[in-house]
Amino acid sequence: MIKENLIKILDEIPSNVKLIAISKTKSAKEILEAYYQGQRLFGENKIQEMNEKYNLLPKDIKWHMVGHVQSNKIKYMAPYVDMIHGIDSFKSLAIINKEGGKNNRIIKCLLQLKISRESTKFGLTFKQIEEIIKSDEYQNLTHVKVCGIMAMASFTNNIKVIKNEFDSTNDLFEKIKKTNTDFNVLSMGMSNDYKLAINCGSNMVRIGSLIFGSRNY
Ligand SMILES: *Cc1c(COP(=O)(O)O)cnc(C)c1O
Repeated sequence: MIKENLIKILDEIPSNVKLIAISKTKSAKEILEAYYQGQRLFGENKIQEMNEKYNLLPKDIKWHMVGHVQSNKIKYMAPYVDMIHGIDSFKSLAIINKEGGKNNRIIKCLLQLKISRESTKFGLTFKQIEEIIKSDEYQNLTHVKVCGIMAMASFTNNIKVIKNEFDSTNDLFEKIKKTNTDFNVLSMGMSNDYKLAINCGSNMVRIGSLIFGSRNY
């Protein structure tokens, strides 16, 4: 089914939108099924699990970290991670910069905007994001590059609420993009809301269960 699910989704999303196949809890075998269908971008939310899969699987896979990043574990993914989505502090950027330097890389990151009202979700406010991007402290980091924004909508069936959150995320993205040439990724949309997210300007969707089936934790 993975193959069919992937074909269906790729058929539905515009060519400018990147699909990150979220493979957390899924086996190397299941990931390979998507890989053989041409999928190269995969996302995980735990560094240790991503490392194990990185070691097992073909090296042309681009791994995205979509979970909350713990500072002390950044060094384990710094040699290979393609993009880190969930940055919610300048401190994390500074550590990623240090690890990027050790590996002679510029590591791509997204700042996580907290749009949802749920206290469980991590993220920065509009103001904090603008401040980080403009700050000299950030401008001086040479081994990390903020490429855009990541956001997760509230856990609700109310489409109006979700649309409002996506629209305001896109507004902030477009605003910063005007003055920042590095800014070109808007990561929003998951299995249940990716179509709406794309309509609201997303150019990177993170889809797990719709490709791989529901997860057993
Ligand atoms: C698990 C996860 C997804 C994918 O969720 P699905 O509903 O299975 O598509 C997307 N983004 C993040 C940050 C996740 O942790």
